This record gives sequence, C-alpha cells and structure tokens, in this order.
Amino acid sequence: MLRIEDALAIILANIPLLAQTDISLTEAIGRALRVDAVSDLDLPPFDRARMDGYALKAADTAYASETQPIRLRDVGEAAAGFAFAETLAGGQAVRIMTGAPVPAGADAVQQIEVIQVSNDGWIELQKPVQPGQFITPRGIEARAGDVMVNAGTRITPAVAAVLASFGYARLTVSQRPAVALLSTGSELVAVETTPGPAQIRNSNTYSLAGYAQAAGAEIIHSGIVPDDFAATCEAIAAGLQRADLVMLSGGVSMGDYDLVKPALKELGAEVLVEKVAMHPGKPTVFAKHGEKIIFGLPGNPVSVAVSFHLFARPALLQMQGIKELHLPRAYAHVTKSVKGAPPRRSHQPGRLNINNGRAEVTPLKWSGSSDLVAFMNADCLIVVPEERANLAKGELAEIILLRD
Ligand code: AMP
Ligand code: MG
Repeated sequence: MLRIEDALAIILANIPLLAQTDISLTEAIGRALRVDAVSDLDLPPFDRARMDGYALKAADTAYASETQPIRLRDVGEAAAGFAFAETLAGGQAVRIMTGAPVPAGADAVQQIEVIQVSNDGWIELQKPVQPGQFITPRGIEARAGDVMVNAGTRITPAVAAVLASFGYARLTVSQRPAVALLSTGSELVAVETTPGPAQIRNSNTYSLAGYAQAAGAEIIHSGIVPDDFAATCEAIAAGLQRADLVMLSGGVSMGDYDLVKPALKELGAEVLVEKVAMHPGKPTVFAKHGEKIIFGLPGNPVSVAVSFHLFARPALLQMQGIKELHLPRAYAHVTKSVKGAPPRRSHQPGRLNINNGRAEVTPLKWSGSSDLVAFMNADCLIVVPEERANLAKGELAEIILLRD
C-alpha cells in the first residue's frame, strides 16, 4: 500500500506532456497557456484620469481656501478616447472625463463634485489639490516587455482580460487531453433506464465527465462495460486507441469480478499504482501503456470523487503543462468529531463556513462511500491524518477545497 504522496509522485513522473496548438482568445477559457505572454505596451498607456472633473497644476491650488478660493481658466476638454492636444499653462484647467489622458502640463485631477463651475469660462476651488491626485500613472499596472502571464497558467476570465489588453488575439495553448470514460459493472444501467432488481443507474460517468472537463479534458464517452474479461480488455484497448487517457470506474477491488487490473496486464500495460493508504479510494489504479495512461478509479461514487481529485485531476493538469496542480488547502475547526481510518489517511466530505471570522467545517452526515446524495453538498474534504482514530470537536483540521 503506497502513501498518497508516493502514489502521486509515481503518477506525476509518468505523465506525458501533450502537444501545443494555436487557438483564438475567444476559445481560450480553461485552456493552458504554453508560452509566456509578454506585454507590448505600458498599461495604462498614458497618465489616466480616475474621476470626472478637471485636470490642473496642483501648485496653482496651493493657497486655495473657503474664504479665498482660487480661480482657474477652463481651456478645453479631454474625454475617454480624445486627448487634449495642447500643454496646460499655469492658471489653466481642462475638463476631463474618467479614462481620458491627463494633458501634458497637468499633474492632478480634482473631481467635479468639489469644484464650482461658472458659465463665464472659469472654475473655482476652495481646497488645495495634492499632486498626482486621481491620476493612474502610465505603466503602473504593466510595463512594455514584461512577462504578464507565465507559461503553464490556466486561462481564467481574468487572465483572458490581461491577454486581450496585450493584443493576444491568438494564443499557443496545450492540446486538451482526450479522456475515454468507461464505467465497469454488470449492475449498471443507463440513466434513461429503470433499474431492474440488483441493478443501479450509472452515475460515475457524469461526475467524472464533469470533473475531467473542468480540468481541461475532452470526453469520449465509452459507455458501460459489463464485468466480463474479454469485454473489459476490448473496451480498454479501444479507449487506448482513441484517447490520451483512459479513465475507468469500478472493477478495481478484490471481488471475483474486479477485472480491470487483469485486463490491463493482459493488454501489456504497466500497473504502477494499485493500492493507496487512503480512505475512501484505497484501490486506486494507475497504469501506463506506451505514451497513454490509465486510471482505474474505485466504483463507489464518493471514492471516485476523492480519488479523481487527489490523483487524476493533477495528472490531467500536468499533461497540459499547467504548473499549479493541486487543490487549495486550508485549516478549519471541525464542528463535530470526525472519524479517521487508521492506518489510512481519511477524507471526509465537509462544508466550510466562516463564522464571525473563524473558519469552521461541518462534517456531512454520510452513510459511507456510496452516499452520493450526501456528497452533493460537500465543498471540501476534511483530512484525518493516518494515525488518528478521530478528530475531536473544535480541533483544527486540514481541509482540501473542492473546485469544479
Ligand atoms: P466496484 O469498485 O466495482 O466494486 O464498485 C463499488 C460500488 O460502486 C458498487 O456498489 C457498485 O455498484 C458501485 N458503482 C460502480 N460503478 C458505478 C457507477 N458507474 N455508478 C454508480 N455506482 C457505481
Ligand atoms: Mg464493479
């Protein structure tokens, strides 16, 4: 039985890097950037007004007061997209709108609300203005030539906005991993079907497809495979033909009809991980077949989710060259005692709540690793260390935040 860290190290050492491809920015969300994105200009590209008001020379206002307001000559206008062409001289001000370039010669902006504007072409200020006020200086957000987004970054909406600002209409990203998804089990029927006696509906396909897509994968649905040796071999072989990664659920425990490992061996795959000191999810299988990889995840719906997040998700991300592989972890106080599973490290579904600034996590009531209904409400996993039979109420526990 491997420790989680050791299993993960073996997996990550055996993941091929996918080829790269060019796509347009409009298709980029969720993709992995493969080259550094460099800025082609300063941002903002000019000193920019942050308020609607007047651009002026701060020194002109130094002696302004309520009893002795100062007057400046209104000499023109700068609007977003339209610069004021001349250089401001002493005693002058330019009406300016948010987002407009601050005219040469001006060094501050005062907001319209505190200015008295007369209709004879003068404005009045009753307070001094600090130099630099309400100006976003050129280049404060980015400098031309700097790396703005590093290779290996996943493109989120906020990253896409940065790429757009620096002219990246097209991008070099990773190919998406093609994942063949197979559910094993003679008891499984399709979602459209009313299960007969001893049958259940296949649910893992839907959780796994969603999780894998969220990790950047393209899913090839390969259906349900009965617990039959020849059928299992054939389905895995077909998956290896079509996909970069074959992901199976079920058929990896010790039952007489758990045929995934024997089938992998029959096909000449190298089984590198077959038991991990974790709960749930102990029978997680990882194998390699040439450049293709195979995950045999346990069949129980909660086990499959835990195993996916700990092992398959980082593998999918690494295939795309993504640098940040792991789900965020944090600490929270448990609101009830939590059972462990020595000598395995346990992962209990929980729900995080910030209570008056204190991070608290409530273990969900669940009947075991088949309880997909309880798991639906989990937003994190509570980690119970391998040596602990339980965590006491109030104890600080490590949690893994689930993202999908
Ligand atoms: P196994 O790992 O094949 O022994 O399956 C463990 C448990 O998970 C059994 O109760 C199975 O019926 C259940 N199970 C296996 N595959 C699925 C699936 N695709 N959807 C829902 N439950 C499943
Ligand atoms: Mg089974």
